[in-house]
Amino acid sequence: MAENCLFCRIANGEIPAALVAESEDAVAFRDISPKAPTHILVIPRRHVDSVLGVDDPQLLGALLALATQVARDEGVAETGFRIVINTGPDGGQTVDHLHLHVLGRRRMNWPPG
Ligand code: AMP
Ligand code: ZN
Repeated sequence: MAENCLFCRIANGEIPAALVAESEDAVAFRDISPKAPTHILVIPRRHVDSVLGVDDPQLLGALLALATQVARDEGVAETGFRIVINTGPDGGQTVDHLHLHVLGRRRMNWPPG
C-alpha cells in the first residue's frame, strides 16, 4: 500500500466507499462525484500510480473484466457505456492510483472535453 493513498485505503476498507463489485485483483465502487447517472471506479487492489506503472498486462485484463461485469450489472451493457483511464495532468488524473471510470446511462460526447 502506498502511504496516504486514498484508493489504497478504500481498497483495504480503511475508508468507506459504496462498493459494487470485487474480484481477486480489483475493487469497484461508486464515484463520490458522479459525472453520469452511472459512474463507477474500478481499481487494482495493489497500488499502481497510473496505467504507465502497469508491469503485468494481466492486471489490465482483470480491471477490464470487472469493468464489463459492472457495466452488465448496472444495466448499461445494452444502452452503451464508456471506459476511461485519465493519465497525468493533461489527461485529468487527480488520484494517483490507477482507476478505470465506467460511465453510462447518458449519451457521451465525442471528442471528450
Ligand atoms: P481522476 O480525475 O480520473 O483521477 O478520477 C478520480 C475520481 O475519484 C474523481 O471522479 C473523483 O470524483 C473520485 N473520487 C475522489 N474521492 C473519492 C472517494 N472518496 N470515493 C469515491 N470516489 C472518489
Ligand atoms: Zn494506492
